[in-house]
Amino acid sequence: MAKRDYYEMLGVGREASDAEIKKAYRKKAMEHHPDRNAQDPNAEARFKEVNEAYDVLKDSQKKAAYDRFGHAAFENGHGAGARGGFQGGGGDFASAFSDVFEDLFGDFMGGQAQGRTRRARGSDLRYNLKMSLEDAFNGKKATIDVPGSAACEVCSGTGAEGGAEPLTCPTCSGHGKVRAQQGFFTVERTCPTCSGRGQIIKNPCHACGGSGVVRKARTLNVNIPAGVETGTRIRLAGEGEAGLRGGPPGDLYIFVEVEAHPIFQREAQDLYCRIPVSMTTATLGGEIDAPTIDGGRTRVKVPVGVQSGKQLRLRGKGMPALRATTTGDLYIELAVETPVNLSHRQKELLRQFDEEGRDNSPETQDFFSRVKGFWDGMKG
Ligand SMILES: [Zn+2]
Ligand SMILES: [Zn+2]
Repeated sequence: MAKRDYYEMLGVGREASDAEIKKAYRKKAMEHHPDRNAQDPNAEARFKEVNEAYDVLKDSQKKAAYDRFGHAAFENGHGAGARGGFQGGGGDFASAFSDVFEDLFGDFMGGQAQGRTRRARGSDLRYNLKMSLEDAFNGKKATIDVPGSAACEVCSGTGAEGGAEPLTCPTCSGHGKVRAQQGFFTVERTCPTCSGRGQIIKNPCHACGGSGVVRKARTLNVNIPAGVETGTRIRLAGEGEAGLRGGPPGDLYIFVEVEAHPIFQREAQDLYCRIPVSMTTATLGGEIDAPTIDGGRTRVKVPVGVQSGKQLRLRGKGMPALRATTTGDLYIELAVETPVNLSHRQKELLRQFDEEGRDNSPETQDFFSRVKGFWDGMKG
């Protein structure tokens, strides 16, 4: 019986481009896939045909041979254009199946099927660095011990004794996965021989057991710039875990946490400090010493008759910006303190003060006149 033409099987013309052939193949393979045609006993045969056709037409050498000699190109003894020892045509169903899986789903699986070498990039590491507000102000040289792994020096990270190149896994031919057919279903499993790497190591390195990686703590000296705050992330490229089997290392991320300060609160680049002032200083005015984050102090004038909660702004006494030259401000909040533990004489003096007149508390008077209006309104 004459074999059907491959182009005809895929429903494309002889001038079809590679992309058109691929597209037509996908469509036909989907259409005739046995999973979708469980009731049709001929589906499997058609599916095989489509795969056979695509197997030839996707390969430029095979396609050229087919265009020249037709099916004869792949019959024994007539393999004029067939090079590289490939066997023509009717592959068994299992291999046809794996082909369609690769083609239809390979793209959706993150292109994993392309990377035959399976060098794995090392993991990223996260290091939590706690530091004081003073250190965040000044910047800091931090020494951190990174527990982790490094490429094995004995085998140069290849995992093979003597640094020999790993071999393609014979069980899965480097795919890292094996497929078994159960009825119409295909089960895909991680290859048991190579654990999914696609490669095996004949003589594993004695120092690392074949992983190419050894446990090794490292000490890193890191300059933490001034101006960091909680949530600042510093990336140290290539300082993460070593890659597996010669893969590139991961990155190290330092996550900064600035601890609460006993005196200053921080809001972005500004600092806030609440300073208690005595009733008499607030009343008569005066000067106080305010602390600054650089460890120094600055003289602050308290205005006469200042009220509790008043904020005084000290420009440029805040925190530096991380990636700019600007500096925040320091806000001093004055908290007027009501005196306690008064002596008899102090109480007597205050009573005398009170009797002098009530014009000393304009805010109090204003408030109670508003309250009176409110109560009167409620009556009406
Ligand atoms: Zn080794
Ligand atoms: Zn394998």
